[in-house]
Amino acid sequence: MSSRRDFIKSTALLAAGSLILPGAININTIGKPKVIIIGAGFAGLAAAYRLKQKGCEVTLLESRNRIGGRVFSHLLDKDEDLVIELGAEWVGASHERMIALCKDFGLELMNNQFDSHLTFAGQYYPKGGWDYSNEWKTKFAKIIGDYGNYTLEDKQKLDKMDWWRFLTNKGISERDLQIRELLDSTDFGESIRHVSAYAALAEYAESSERNEMDFKIKGGNSRLSDKFAEKIGMNSILLKHKVVEVQQLDGTVTVKCDNGMTFSGDNLICTVPTYALSKINWKPGLPEEKIDAVNSLQYARISKHALLFNERFWNEEAFDMVTDVYGHYFYHATKNQPGKKGALISYTIGDKADVISRQNDEFKKNMVSDSLKPAFGDIKDKIVNQVNYYWGADENTKGAYALYGKGQWFTIMPVLKKKFLSTYFAGEHLADWQGFMEGAIITGEEAADEIAG
Ligand SMILES: Cc1cc2nc3c(=O)[nH]c(=O)nc-3n(C[C@H](O)[C@H](O)[C@H](O)COP(=O)(O)OP(=O)(O)OC[C@H]3O[C@@H](n4cnc5c(N)ncnc54)[C@H](O)[C@@H]3O)c2cc1C
Repeated sequence: MSSRRDFIKSTALLAAGSLILPGAININTIGKPKVIIIGAGFAGLAAAYRLKQKGCEVTLLESRNRIGGRVFSHLLDKDEDLVIELGAEWVGASHERMIALCKDFGLELMNNQFDSHLTFAGQYYPKGGWDYSNEWKTKFAKIIGDYGNYTLEDKQKLDKMDWWRFLTNKGISERDLQIRELLDSTDFGESIRHVSAYAALAEYAESSERNEMDFKIKGGNSRLSDKFAEKIGMNSILLKHKVVEVQQLDGTVTVKCDNGMTFSGDNLICTVPTYALSKINWKPGLPEEKIDAVNSLQYARISKHALLFNERFWNEEAFDMVTDVYGHYFYHATKNQPGKKGALISYTIGDKADVISRQNDEFKKNMVSDSLKPAFGDIKDKIVNQVNYYWGADENTKGAYALYGKGQWFTIMPVLKKKFLSTYFAGEHLADWQGFMEGAIITGEEAADEIAG
């Protein structure tokens, strides 16, 4: 397994080898494979765009009535044109394909970095007023530095352990560990007791300084989906077409949708999350090792609870706050969007997310208000609207993104990636930049390159 950076270097070379000019679409489809793609998230859209550029005929089938999948911008306030993200939020400074595509499509990336406040054990600490212990900071800097010398064997060994155990073995103090749990579980979507130590260390050692929480697309991340669709052509993208069956026979793939429509092609790119994959009737059936891998992989439970307030009482554009109570992680979701009103998102994970998702609006208001009280006093009356999206209940994913647990990165992922007859697989869960839009795009482009050269 290459490191994330090595991987990106090699895919960049691959792309350079096939030399495609940004925006150029080749309309000569004669002799080119006809490709069907399942899923119009970033993996499917990136694959379709790349294939269209190479002159292939593409049909993109999407079960929802919108494109973008887990990239889901939402207009929270029409009067002040305030847009928030119910799915993917941050574009990382190391996310080269995302940045390049935004540049090609003329989309502006706005700074989306935050200065973290903390509420811990009932006590509020403003930004700059809290930190890890000096002892742990020194130890952690060494851990990150040492990662550069890890062999493949070291990484595979590390993968057998969870991140909580790894930190504990390294002698982290109880307070440092509790704060790391709060911060890191926000990244992975579940307690760090469930996360592979390799997946975690690789992410922190190879990330930008702010852990890829750097930018956001002006107007909402869904604008990138819209640009993809514009280039691909909406006539090639069919919404409300849920694929229920895939038949592969004599080099032809035929897919059947729940509305009775069928489509045939030379190749298929399947970009759906594993839960959705398991609901498709595969003929012939998927190999047993792939079924086992699908059944082994969990997805993180994340709830995004957006609150519109009548004023921005937090008084800082770059406000965010980690708490050890129900609201978990709060951030200013309308950063760089002028207006009197403003939004915070409460980003909860795991059991907290699951519990909150089932409660009524009054409970949610109280939950948020109680979480913010140590820092701001009673703010309940300032809430004018709230919107909740719980990804743990999403009908396609049943989670926000894949959660590689102990021993799964080097065993499960390669199996899930494996081509099956004329079908290639892509999506966030198969990426070195796993859990990111960047990863979804790279896997989609890779699958397209494998098919069309
Ligand atoms: C709460 C949350 C926060 C996140 N935060 C970030 C972040 O800050 N930064 C970042 O880079 N990434 C983040 N991500 C991850 C990012 O959203 C994903 O990595 C990426 O969008 C996944 O793209 P994909 O194409 O692999 O999958 P998806 O976007 O899930 O696309 C798959 C598509 O397939 C469709 N589909 C499923 N089954 C079928 C079927 N049978 N037939 C037809 N269509 C089907 C689905 O409707 C969906 O549109 C976040 C995700 C969530 C949920």
